[in-house]
Amino acid sequence: MTDLPQDAHRRLREQLGVYALGHGTPAERAAVGAHLDGCASCRAELAELAPLVGRLADVDPDRLDDVPGPPPGLGEAVLARIAAEGPRPADLAARRARRTRLQVAVAAVAIAAAAFGVGWLARPVPPQPPLEAVAVQVDRAGVTATAAVVPHTWGVEVKLSGSGFAAGEVYRLTVRDDAGREVAAGEFVGVGAQPLNCNMNSSVLRQDAAGFEVVDSAGAVVLRSDL
Ligand SMILES: [Zn+2]
Repeated sequence: MTDLPQDAHRRLREQLGVYALGHGTPAERAAVGAHLDGCASCRAELAELAPLVGRLADVDPDRLDDVPGPPPGLGEAVLARIAAEGPRPADLAARRARRTRLQVAVAAVAIAAAAFGVGWLARPVPPQPPLEAVAVQVDRAGVTATAAVVPHTWGVEVKLSGSGFAAGEVYRLTVRDDAGREVAAGEFVGVGAQPLNCNMNSSVLRQDAAGFEVVDSAGAVVLRSDL
């Protein structure tokens, strides 16, 4: 099996859960990996942890949302695994040791999840580009609309809010540049009286944009704005 001193071996074994989850420093991982090559007992132990790792891998970090904390279902996964093992008195010490390693692994994941949350909260928030409210002239009965534009490095964004766009009808927004060229900025479908908020993106740079308009599926102008 191995000729490591007993407590050195125990320390390596305690790393298995963390290793199985893909955590640990490169040096720690290398040490565990090298040991695994020569230790069938630890390889078997690692294989025992695999089902739990599979479940943890399914945890979507996006579901952690704003609140740092362990992934949902983590406690249940561990409890289910411990319960599934059932009582085997002859194996009690091994089970205790395994449970400890699982708890270490779970703690590592919880820490990683918390770090992820903290990292998410502390992530650099890019400065918001200025929102420029613009006047909108609506040429369609029943339609109300307001708009703002956002200058981006890649073009101008039109944030359109309104209601009264005929439900199911497809509308197109085009941005007009200084040279009179009409550039498509996207389409949206009307939702009737419900409020509609959509962001349309155009490749025309803000300084080159002279205005925009929204046309219905027949090409009739519904609203326009001069920039
Ligand atoms: Zn070993």
